Amino acid sequence: MTRRKLVLGNWKMNGLRADASAWASAASSLAGECSACEVGILPAFVHLDTALAAASGTRLMVGAQDLASWTNGAYTGEVSAEMLGDIGATHVLVGHSERRHLLGESDEVVATKFERALAAGLTPVLCLGETLDEREAGQTDAVVLRQLDAVALRCGAAGLARAVLAYEPVWAIGTGRTASPEQAQAVHARVRGALGNLDAMLPGLVRILYGGSVKAANAAELFAQADIDGGLIGGAALVPSEFAAICRAANQEG
Ligand code: PEP
Repeated sequence: MTRRKLVLGNWKMNGLRADASAWASAASSLAGECSACEVGILPAFVHLDTALAAASGTRLMVGAQDLASWTNGAYTGEVSAEMLGDIGATHVLVGHSERRHLLGESDEVVATKFERALAAGLTPVLCLGETLDEREAGQTDAVVLRQLDAVALRCGAAGLARAVLAYEPVWAIGTGRTASPEQAQAVHARVRGALGNLDAMLPGLVRILYGGSVKAANAAELFAQADIDGGLIGGAALVPSEFAAICRAANQEG
């Protein structure tokens, strides 16, 4: 089964409204041009409406960077899955390493958020990845599979079938240090194997993106790996020419 490549641009906490409008317009045209792959953007909550307006009627997908682990109620400052779906977001990041490590989100909280996203009809983009210390201690597979298992236990194979995964080694995010195509492929293959142990249907179905200092110069080589189904792009998503080149590289691979 072929899994169509997917490129998601994570804008993080960047840009004002004019930037969001310009980046989203550029990404909308790009999504139209790259018809062999899928393109999406993940703005901050306050820029979702601006991005959705620019994406309206185009192939561009718009998602959020986080969601509440509660459904609704007295949780000041939080944004629920239902609210995101209601305004037209289709995807949401779950368990980005900046949230796991800077804000202390546990595997359990991540699993709850994943469950909430599914319940609201959103596609969760579950981020998995090890720190440099964990890699150097030979714990990469154990950490990544533990993070995956926490969600599998809660939502099962049926839940994972509706998700996208993103392998993002923490040491490669925003550092300029990219995993080599071989290093990334090895972890992706391991994760795909684990999906197969849960359900034989999952490996052919679930896309596993790579994230961590992807740029125009290394995208093609990464996307050519058998188990890399696209990218989760941070810094380079803020530079329209870089993001365009990355999407075109994914589009070449189909
Ligand atoms: C990310 O934010 O998920 C990311 C991969 O960032 P960068 O591309 O800047 O490393």
